[in-house]
Amino acid sequence: MSSGKTESTEQHGTDEETEAPESALETARRQLEHAAAHLDVDPGVIERLKHPTKVHRVAVPLKRDDGSVDVYTGYRAQHDDVRGPYKGGLRFHPHVSEKECVGLSMWMTWKCAVMDLPFGGGKGGIVVNPKELSTEEKERLTRRFAEEIRDAIGPKRDIPAPDMGTDAQTMAWFMDAYSMQEGETIPGVVTGKPPVIGGSYGREEAPGRSVAIIAREVVDYYDQDLEETTVAVQGFGSVGANAARALDDWGANVVAVSDVNGAIYDPDGLDTHAVPSHEEQPEAVMTHDAPEKLSNEKILELDVDVLIPAAIGNVITADNAGDVDADVVVEGANGPTTFAADSILEERGIDVVPDILANAGGVTVSYFEWLQDINRRQWSLERVNEELEDHMLSAWNDVRAEVEARDVSWRDAAYIVALDRIAEAKSVRGLWP
Ligand code: NAD
Repeated sequence: MSSGKTESTEQHGTDEETEAPESALETARRQLEHAAAHLDVDPGVIERLKHPTKVHRVAVPLKRDDGSVDVYTGYRAQHDDVRGPYKGGLRFHPHVSEKECVGLSMWMTWKCAVMDLPFGGGKGGIVVNPKELSTEEKERLTRRFAEEIRDAIGPKRDIPAPDMGTDAQTMAWFMDAYSMQEGETIPGVVTGKPPVIGGSYGREEAPGRSVAIIAREVVDYYDQDLEETTVAVQGFGSVGANAARALDDWGANVVAVSDVNGAIYDPDGLDTHAVPSHEEQPEAVMTHDAPEKLSNEKILELDVDVLIPAAIGNVITADNAGDVDADVVVEGANGPTTFAADSILEERGIDVVPDILANAGGVTVSYFEWLQDINRRQWSLERVNEELEDHMLSAWNDVRAEVEARDVSWRDAAYIVALDRIAEAKSVRGLWP
């Protein structure tokens, strides 16, 4: 399978900033300029998009369980809201920084736009190692952070979601703190909540499911039968396991999966439902009986039709891109392919379908959750999955049209679709005053 792509591409910001060859902000700005070169966009619009609308920086005091007080720094970067409220995760991680939040908020702007969701980009977090906090401390920190940024957020303004170091419980505390202060229950202030308080069914599985949908479509695009397609998935966590199992259910031959300890390989195909996912039994992939065990690096070099890196960022680099033997890479993780690796894969005729399209099922079902919250009406899992399928196919078709019309890479095409929508909205709304 190959489209014989001809243009070089650039990597966007990643979730693994410590390993990134450049900061998320630098990559986000480079990507913007790269996509702008393909479009006839007012330079003033591009200039405006290089800067976040606002960045909130707050001090978050926390009374520790031993009675002492620590003060943490929290951020909320709001990049652009021309298409709707800011949307993006909140992470609790020691490497959170203002620059990282700004870069990742820009990247959320593109992700929401490529999916045609009525949202802009936001990102935030607290500079803290959540593993060093008790559950009670985490709850107090979350509630105080919600209060500190309360004026900046809201279901019509900015809607946070879980990210690294935060989860459905964090979102429940956040929503409760916000609602208590506002005097009414406002579930739409965050997404990724437990379904019992307005979360959506299917939210957890959505990023992996969207990766599987896009992989299925790319296989079909290159006229290959899914039942004759071999797939390798690095990372058997939320994204990787859900993607692998969906593809397995649809008939693909998932021959290898891995976790942080290594990979299992069966050329005849694995029963992916029998392999323990990260959630079911952390880091237990290697305990599953399989004909061959490989290292985590080797899984990236298998001769398969589709390779899905779904673990962490920056795993396909200049050092190993020459050894990738798949026909297509579908990005499950955020930023798994470095800029240099992207060029090498391109020269070798290996297509890379970017994360901003492939794993966008997460933010798409967050949009469904927000709709359900506003309407006070819960959708069934079947409806969520049907709507997700529709949205993914629609975005896929939009990106595919750009690939065909402009002879650009899948990554460039996705950014072109996104920037075109944002720039048009900016141009129609104009600049006030
Ligand atoms: P997870 O914690 O559920 O699973 C991660 C998996 O990767 C685990 O199996 C772990 O063992 C494995 N892993 C960790 N380090 C590894 C390494 N060095 N080499 C190989 N495997 C390694 O995480 P997740 O939620 O599935 O997220 C995976 C990626 O997808 C991240 O880049 C994340 O930012 C991105 N992502 C997640 C979501 C989401 O909603 N979960 C949405 C979009 C993108």
